[in-house]
Amino acid sequence: MIVLKFGGTSVGDAAAIERAVEITRSKLPRRPIVVVSALARATNELLAIAEHAAEGQLIAALRGVEALRERHLHECDALLDQSAEADEVRSEMSAMFDELANIAEALSVLGHLTPRSQDAIAAYGEMLSATLVSAAMRRRGVPVELVDAREVMVTDDHHTKAVPQMDGIVRNARARIVPVVERGCVPLLGGFIGRTPQGVTTTIGRGGGDYSAALFGAAVDAEAIEIWTDVDGMLTADPRVVRGARLIEEIRFDEAAELASFGAKVLHPSTIAPAVQRGIPVFIYNSRRPEGRGTRITSEAPRRPVSAIAGRGNVTVVRVHSSRMLLAHGFLRALFEVFERHRTSVDVVATSEVSVSVTIDGPAQLDDLVVELRALGDVSIERNRAVIAMVGAGLGGNSSIMARALGALEGIRVHMISLSASEINLTIIVDGDQLGAAVCALHSEFFPDGAASS
Ligand code: ADP
Ligand code: ASP
Ligand code: MG
Repeated sequence: MIVLKFGGTSVGDAAAIERAVEITRSKLPRRPIVVVSALARATNELLAIAEHAAEGQLIAALRGVEALRERHLHECDALLDQSAEADEVRSEMSAMFDELANIAEALSVLGHLTPRSQDAIAAYGEMLSATLVSAAMRRRGVPVELVDAREVMVTDDHHTKAVPQMDGIVRNARARIVPVVERGCVPLLGGFIGRTPQGVTTTIGRGGGDYSAALFGAAVDAEAIEIWTDVDGMLTADPRVVRGARLIEEIRFDEAAELASFGAKVLHPSTIAPAVQRGIPVFIYNSRRPEGRGTRITSEAPRRPVSAIAGRGNVTVVRVHSSRMLLAHGFLRALFEVFERHRTSVDVVATSEVSVSVTIDGPAQLDDLVVELRALGDVSIERNRAVIAMVGAGLGGNSSIMARALGALEGIRVHMISLSASEINLTIIVDGDQLGAAVCALHSEFFPDGAASS
């Protein structure tokens, strides 16, 4: 068995869905399980509907519902001819849009959006695409069975970022997915969505379709997990930032995880864990160019000094300056306890003899946290920073990398630099508006045209 996951752009319209069908057909001998995302941009549009409704802008919300209805029915018409089955799919989708409109109306009366209702709305993206893509597969002769992902993906009730419960998922996958494969059919499920043991719909975090695919793959002990997307694989940088970004044919699990958590959106950061635990290789392929070599993520790939560079903006730096620090043991523990009490997770840490600097994702509300930190020293906050991660499993043993990185960044202000304890990630903090320039400068230093990283 293998898992094929098609992201939003890979099921974005009828032409993309046709490609996904053909890719699935070509994999039938390997007994595929298919996981699909919502049509490209649909999740954002659903969340906008939820917000409009809760703000009392019901007309805008219902307009959003109608636009999505039109788009889905249009793609449906392009994929399915006039037939009794096509009518059934159309009416199933229409019923979902009617429900969506009802939820929007209810939200506009309540005037309040909870994470739970946000999930109830967002989940329609994957429910609709799973309905549409499975119908397209059946129409083209691929034996397929639509499985409601919520019957497999058990999660806790941490809405919008619900945590999947592996034991339940394994049990459900054995009952709901494996028998379908054994009948010679392709089980097709929506990614991203789940359900609490009490039956309430949840989602597992933006971009979570990759994570769903990895969890289902782990649950059935798949031979491989294939992530089909809109780029050739994991590249040496985000191709939207660096024009000359190149394909990485093989990358290690730990490197891919690090890159994903520092902004390489091509893979959801949590995807790696279930795959690593069972030693299942993850591949990334381009659904527009299925003949491409793609990227293979495994534990065996070679250790390069720099495999790729990732970055993300909207980072806040918190600095605590204390002349007492050097003498006082327990200072760092006290400091991190403050962050823990405020449930604020810290990404990058750098220390000097008299100060500690940490980064936090997003423009977090820090007032209460800062009050507590002041007991430890002088506190300063810097917003609108960006973090860049240069990732390579062979980075630690190569002392010239940091010097070369700083040389390449000449003219760009560097606020912080830190080598991760595992020594596979050199993180550099720059001004938010310098992110693109800094990533491009580093990329030209470490991946000059035509040469491999050295
Ligand atoms: P999908 O809808 O298939 O899940 P995503 O938009 O989530 O696709 O992820 C694919 C995008 O990730 C690419 O279009 C690309 O712009 C971006 N990306 C960021 N960093 C990288 C990288 N290092 N390699 C490849 N793609 C990257
Ligand atoms: N549709 C969801 C999102 O846009 C999940 C995914 O695409 O992986 O976040
Ligand atoms: Mg994605």
